[in-house]
Amino acid sequence: MKQSIKRVVIAGGGTAGWMAAASLSKLLGKNLDITLVESDAIGTVGVGEATIPTILTLHKLLKLNEQEMMAATSATFKLGISFENWRAQGQDYIHSFGTTGQDCWAAGFQHFWLKGQALGFSKDYGDYCPELVAAKQNRFAVTPKQGLNYAYHLDATAYAVYLRKIAEEFGVKRVEGKIAQVQLHADNGFIRALELDSGQVIEGDLFIDCTGFRALLIEQALHVGYEDWSHWLPCDSALAVQTESVSEPIPYTRSIAHQAGWQWRIPLQHRVGNGLVYCSRYLNDEAAKTLLLENIEGNTISEPRLIRFRPGQRRQHWHKNCVALGLASGFVEPLESTSIHMIQRSIIRLMQNFPLTAIHQSDIDEFNQQTDFELQNIRDFIILHYHVTERTDSPFWRFCKNMDIPDSLKHRIQLFKETGRVFKVPNELFGENSWVQVMMGQGLTPNQYHPIVDMMSDEELQQFLSQIEQRAKQMVGQLPNHQEFVQHYCGIVSSGVK
Ligand code: FAD
Repeated sequence: MKQSIKRVVIAGGGTAGWMAAASLSKLLGKNLDITLVESDAIGTVGVGEATIPTILTLHKLLKLNEQEMMAATSATFKLGISFENWRAQGQDYIHSFGTTGQDCWAAGFQHFWLKGQALGFSKDYGDYCPELVAAKQNRFAVTPKQGLNYAYHLDATAYAVYLRKIAEEFGVKRVEGKIAQVQLHADNGFIRALELDSGQVIEGDLFIDCTGFRALLIEQALHVGYEDWSHWLPCDSALAVQTESVSEPIPYTRSIAHQAGWQWRIPLQHRVGNGLVYCSRYLNDEAAKTLLLENIEGNTISEPRLIRFRPGQRRQHWHKNCVALGLASGFVEPLESTSIHMIQRSIIRLMQNFPLTAIHQSDIDEFNQQTDFELQNIRDFIILHYHVTERTDSPFWRFCKNMDIPDSLKHRIQLFKETGRVFKVPNELFGENSWVQVMMGQGLTPNQYHPIVDMMSDEELQQFLSQIEQRAKQMVGQLPNHQEFVQHYCGIVSSGVK
C-alpha cells in the first residue's frame, strides 16, 4: 500500500516534543521521516517534574532502563501527594497511588471502613494502603512481586535531553531555529510547512504542535479556539523556584494550600522543585513571590520564574493535519500532575489512529472525542479538591467553596454523600480509590454504608480490617529507607545531601 503520510514535523522540543519524537521514532519510525524543530533561545516551560504511575507504561513501550533513566534525571520515587491545609488549616491527607483495603464485588472498601469507624475500631483510612504507609514512613523499594504502585519526581530538562537521545538514535532529525511562520496550503488550509527565522522551510504531511502555551500551529495558524475553565479553576499563575536539598528526599509530592492557592515541593536527588500556584485576582505577583520565598527550605538555586496559564483545553486537539500535544493542547492545572500523562495518552492515541494513507475526519473526531472525555474527568477531579473544603478563611477559599461546579461532579459528590458509592467511568484516569481518598480527605463523609457490610458480624469485620492493616504494616516494615534505596538503585556513591 502506498503511504502518503510519511513526513512528520514536530514543532517544539519540551517534554511533549521529545516524548512524541522518542515514541513515534521507536514504535513507528521505520515508516516515517521525523523532524523536530526547537528553539534554544525560547527554551521550555521548565516545570513539570512530578509524574503519575502511568508513565511506567510509556517507559515499558520505549524499553527504557529505569535505573539509567533515574540516574540521568536525578529522579526519586513518588507514592502519592500529601495535601496539607486543603480541607482545613492544620489538616492533612495523602492521595496515594495504591489500593486501600480490599473491595468486595458489591461495595468498595470504604463501606467496610465506615462501619468499622462507627463501631470505633477503624484506624486511619490510609493505614490500609501500603503505598500510603510507606510514604509516611519514608520507605521504598522496587520489588518484582506485589510491589508498590509508584511514579517519579524528575528533572524536566534532563528528562527531555534523555528522550532526545533515544529519538536521535531512532533517526529523528533535530533542527535548531525559531519558527517565524506557518505556511498553509491555499486550497484546504492544511499546514504545508514551517518557515524558520533563518529562511529554512520544513515541509511535512503531519505536524505535531508541541510549542507549549504559544500553540503556534494549532491556534495561531489554525485558530481552533479555546474552552476556558477558569470559572471552575481560578488559579492562573505560578511562580517556580529551585532550592538546594536540606534533607532526604521523601517519596511523595507535597501540596500545601495557602490563602489564595497552593505550593508544591518536589524532591529530586540533588535539589527541590518549589512553586506557588495562585489566583491573580486574590494575590498579586509581588505578594506571591514573598509568600513563596518565605515558605521554602534551603538556598535558592534559580530565580523565581513567573508563568501565566489559562485552565482549559483547545476546542480541537487534532485539526486538519495538525495534532497538538502538551501545553499547546491545553492545561487543566498542575495539581495531581496529570499533564505529562495526557501527553503520553495523546501520543498512544495518535499511534492507534495513525493516518497512514490519508487523514480521515473519522480518525480526527475519534481522537478529539477521547481526549476531551479524559480531560473533562481529570478537570472534575481537580475541581473537587478546591470546592469540597471547610476553609472559609480567605476570599479565595470562599469563592471555591461557593462556586458552581460541573453537573458531572455535582452528581459524584451527591452520590458519595448519600450512599458512599463511587464509580469509575470507563477510560477515565482516576479510579475509585483516588476519588474516595480525596473526597474523604477533603471532609466529605457518606451518610451510610452499603448494607452488604452487615453480612459480616462485628467481630468478623474487626478481624478483616485488622488483617489488612497488619499486612500493609508488615510489607512496609521490610522496605529500606527511600533515599538509601535510590542511591543503591541508581548507583550513586554520594548525593551530596547531608
Ligand atoms: P514547553 O516545555 O513550553 O516546550 C515548548 C517548546 O516549543 C520549546 O522547545 C520551545 O523552544 C519550542 N518553541 C516555542 N515557540 C517556538 C518557536 N517559535 N520556534 C521554535 N520553537 C519554539 N505536568 C506534570 O505532568 N507534572 C507536573 O508536576 C507539572 N507541573 C507543572 C507546573 C506548572 C506551573 C505548569 C505551568 C505546568 C506543569 N506541568 C506539569 C505541565 C508540564 O510542564 C508540561 O505538560 C510539560 O512540560 C510539557 O510542556 P510542553 O513540551 O508542552 O511545552
